[in-house]
Amino acid sequence: MERTFIAIKPDGVARGLVAKIIKRFEQRGYKLVALKMVKPSDAHLREHYADLAGKGFFNGLIEYMKSGPIVAMVWAGENACAGGRMLLGETNPQSSLPGSIRGDYSLTIGRNICHGSDSVESAEKEIALWFGKDEICDWELPVHSLLYE
Ligand code: UDP
Ligand code: MG
Repeated sequence: MERTFIAIKPDGVARGLVAKIIKRFEQRGYKLVALKMVKPSDAHLREHYADLAGKGFFNGLIEYMKSGPIVAMVWAGENACAGGRMLLGETNPQSSLPGSIRGDYSLTIGRNICHGSDSVESAEKEIALWFGKDEICDWELPVHSLLYE
């Protein structure tokens, strides 16, 4: 089953949106396989966003991501990466439709409350960066047969 790395950024945690964001993934039918609250190091965040190093907003992004604890998660399910990004909305909340997480709860690109892997390849890289193998829970979703043919 496809897996995606989803994180609730410091502003999402500080604004009390943890339960609301988790609920969207649960109600869609995705399976939660890992979850923890963390304050990642500067080096960890620079590695996570390595493909954006050199962008004008990069240092600001790292400071924003260090401004408080983050809730890091792995969700599994059919097409979890693209589906997860759909639940989040567009990178810029001004382009995010109401009904998406960013479209419902945020206004600006530099405070867009959540992260989601943009492909299966980045998901597997991000999961390995944020979680040890022993932190990933292998379990059967009891409603599996009600969600999948
Ligand atoms: N970001 C920003 N300004 C920009 C583009 C991105 O502050 O012009 C931040 C924003 O928080 C975004 C993160 O950098 O979520 C990572 O950018 P990416 O293009 O990977 O967007 P995402 O995958 O998060 O939608
Ligand atoms: Mg990205």
